[in-house]
Amino acid sequence: MKPDHHKVWSKCLDFVKQSIEPMAFATWFDPIVPLQLRSDVLTIQVPSLYFYEIIEEQYIELVSKGLRSILGPTAKLEYSVVMDKGRSAVSKHDAITVNFPTSNKVDLRNRAVSTNHASETVIKNPFVIPGIAKLNVDPQLNPDYTFDNYVEGDCNRLARSASIAVAKNPGKTAFNPLFLYGGSGLGKTHLAQAIGVEVKNVSPEKTVLYVSANKFQTQYTDSIRSNSVNDFLNFYQMIDVLIVDDIQEFAGKTGTQNTFFHIFNHLHQSGKQLILTSDMAPADLQGMEDRLLSRFKWGLPAEILAPDYETRIDILKQKIHKDGISISADVIHYLASHINSNVRELEGALISLLFLSTIDKNEITLSTAQNVVDKLIRRSQREISVDYIQKTVCDYYGLEPDSLQLKTRKREIVQARQIAMYFSKNLTNSSLSAIGSRIGKKDHATVLHACKTISNLIETDRDFKSQIREIEAQLKS
Ligand code: ADP
Ligand code: MG
Repeated sequence: MKPDHHKVWSKCLDFVKQSIEPMAFATWFDPIVPLQLRSDVLTIQVPSLYFYEIIEEQYIELVSKGLRSILGPTAKLEYSVVMDKGRSAVSKHDAITVNFPTSNKVDLRNRAVSTNHASETVIKNPFVIPGIAKLNVDPQLNPDYTFDNYVEGDCNRLARSASIAVAKNPGKTAFNPLFLYGGSGLGKTHLAQAIGVEVKNVSPEKTVLYVSANKFQTQYTDSIRSNSVNDFLNFYQMIDVLIVDDIQEFAGKTGTQNTFFHIFNHLHQSGKQLILTSDMAPADLQGMEDRLLSRFKWGLPAEILAPDYETRIDILKQKIHKDGISISADVIHYLASHINSNVRELEGALISLLFLSTIDKNEITLSTAQNVVDKLIRRSQREISVDYIQKTVCDYYGLEPDSLQLKTRKREIVQARQIAMYFSKNLTNSSLSAIGSRIGKKDHATVLHACKTISNLIETDRDFKSQIREIEAQLKS
């Protein structure tokens, strides 16, 4: 008698089961339904594209071995992916067919997937935690960060419209996760929060949470200390719209990344919305686990660029209008043409101007504006960066400016590199991995080691200590 699809799949599962953890098996294989068997092609139904990716990425070798042992060397696997209603990531109607061996990285958008509607299939959710009542979660949102207050420009059009789409239909668009990235002060936090604010306005019953990556990390480490990791996980798994700000801060923090990976999987798979922000594109993030990076790339990475002149004028006008003050056109022009890379600084200049005008009770003149801008520019030039530290350390020891990048174990260079790492750790906000990647392409452990070595030397070697003091003085001068 010919085997039917149930039998084949159940035999294949017996095989898979032997090699993977029970928890992983329950998570990724229980929800799969075998649909049909035509000669040597087995069709299985997976609850989402996301499942398909996980199977392809992590389990395809096992599954392929299992199937071949049952159906012979020409066995093929075909996926039928259940699509949520309203979700439009893929709309073609052929099935994904996988010929073994298959590559682990498949760009879903270039492949065809058969779709049917979620309501037709009951998806068992292996993560549901019984007995957890919906808590009243404070979303941690700033009500001023709205779409209305967010000026649109060429620099942010894509990011802004994707965010609006997500806010209208959280979890139901192709933008999941929505990954907003760009330089500091360009409006990532504002835009990410605006999504939360809008969702809460329209659907107050939805659980929205904004959290900075740093806060998430602290909560996670606290939960380990107090033996309450499960509560931590349960809490995050309840969120409908989760916004994690400055995700680059997870760099090098493997434990936090793992935990976030699980939360991400759970939420994504349950059709919940994730919004992430970062100062770099997913492809450029350092110190991040590959499996997490691949998730980040899965939705839509949308870049926010520095605003052009017109947008800067619009932003200033909007803020001036909101504050109900009057500022002459030439002052606005002056600000917009001199502060050109950062909206936060543009705002800062405006606030200083307002402040000066209230103490002087004077009109804001062009020369007051010039003073404010001068001070601001000087201050931002003094901000200490990893590159500035490298340059100062090299200057101090009479080394070529880029010698710290050389692959060499020459003592003087190794030590200069360690000193630069030490200062970067203490004087900038960069993470260990970010520092390592800038200084000689080292990993975070090397940076950590450098910091310890230098601290020890400072304690034990007086000459060395005074050198460090001198460099520090130069850095801060
Ligand atoms: P980031 O998170 O990218 O560092 P923020 O979101 O904190 O930047 O933005 C810095 C400041 O600039 C905030 O006060 C924000 O309201 C303002 N801002 C940024 N972009 C815009 C914009 N397009 N329109 C209006 N305000 C903006
Ligand atoms: Mg921010």
